[in-house]
Amino acid sequence: MKKNILKKREMPDAYLNLPYYLNKYLGELPEPPLDPKTKKPIGPEALLRLFPLELIKQEVSLEKEIPIPDEVRELYASYRPSPLLRASRLEKILGTPASIYFKYEGASPVGSHKLNTALPQAYYNKKEGVSLLTTETGAGQWGSALALACRFFNMKCKVFMVKGSYEQKPYRKTVMHLYGADVIASPSVETQAGKAFLSRLPGTMGSLGMAISEAIEVAVTTPGAHYALGSVLNHVLTHQTIIGLEAKRQMEKGGVYPDVVVGCCGGGSNLAGISFPFLADKLSGNASALRVVAVEPESCPSLTKGEYRYDSADTAGMTPLMKMYTMGSGFVPSPIHAGGLRYHGDSPLVSFLYYKKLMEATAYGQRDVFAAARKFAQAEGIIPAPESAHAIRQVIEEANRAKEEGKKKTILFSLSGHGLLDLGAYEEFLEGGMV
Ligand SMILES: *Cc1c(COP(=O)(O)O)cnc(C)c1O
Repeated sequence: MKKNILKKREMPDAYLNLPYYLNKYLGELPEPPLDPKTKKPIGPEALLRLFPLELIKQEVSLEKEIPIPDEVRELYASYRPSPLLRASRLEKILGTPASIYFKYEGASPVGSHKLNTALPQAYYNKKEGVSLLTTETGAGQWGSALALACRFFNMKCKVFMVKGSYEQKPYRKTVMHLYGADVIASPSVETQAGKAFLSRLPGTMGSLGMAISEAIEVAVTTPGAHYALGSVLNHVLTHQTIIGLEAKRQMEKGGVYPDVVVGCCGGGSNLAGISFPFLADKLSGNASALRVVAVEPESCPSLTKGEYRYDSADTAGMTPLMKMYTMGSGFVPSPIHAGGLRYHGDSPLVSFLYYKKLMEATAYGQRDVFAAARKFAQAEGIIPAPESAHAIRQVIEEANRAKEEGKKKTILFSLSGHGLLDLGAYEEFLEGGMV
């Protein structure tokens, strides 16, 4: 395939909204979020303290598409369309008849797909007069993305970073500081929620669930402040569909269509991004054989081992209850290097798709994943984020299966970010110290 780069003018001008397709072709939607006190569906107005109206509308929208604002398209144009590449050297090494394509999101200024939603979120907040965005971050990818987006739109940004990462992975903290954000190790003494975690769990290294509670508390108690989330919510997944929409156009140019789409899954946003445009085809009857595979770490296996039920999105129980596959909101996963995959739940949309068997899921252990990452780096040169390496591990599985079955197949996966700030983890792997 020669032309894997779209021209700027061929970049999508609207996001794809999967709930439209679920409603139209399946006649069913994920169950709505509930008020944690009354256990009744929450009205959109309950979210106005946290999010701008436009994002709340997107959260419940059943429109087919959501237009991308011109200001956001202009900012996208500095790094999008992202390249669609073929991993032909990996194919050769594996001796597989499968063709392997990947969408490389690591070429964004912050090194991951997270900027795709940080930009529209900052844009809509700015438009409604918000001056401070608060958020949480695990390994720091989302925090860096929101810090940059806030800088572009001239807003303040306050990031609660999971303490374990804050202390052990300092470089993304530096990135956030460079962009001008305020970064606080969570749990902190800045919030009531943080103080409560510290007294209940002295010495805790924190979790995403705790950091979310802190960020929400600051947002609701500070005038002019809103909260932003980097995954899980419908509007976040919708923004990420730009990945799959571009990929589809890029593949069409080469006359190919995937048999299987693979993505790693923390909250589900990069997986949704790469797969929803193809799942829309499947739902409308145009790609009935298409498979989508979510890949998660064995240490935080929410889809493969969790329960499908209503649960809180944070540890302090401040968020609406969401119907999702969950390990329980008090679950603190063991500290693995793929920090972006350490979330106790999954997005309601991805959970619903898995429940409806429109998606498959699988889990791998850390060393297995890093071995796949090394194989990929040696074949293609790109050093993947440990999160993205989960997808690569499954891609190798798919390619080997194609070889055993002697079948051609087209694999597409999301390489959600680069791993150049994760070299400490790679070093530990190479030295054999990884558990
Ligand atoms: C945050 C992150 C993930 C996990 O989040 P999703 O919402 O599941 O995509 C995966 N890869 C990278 C590089 C990340 O930064």
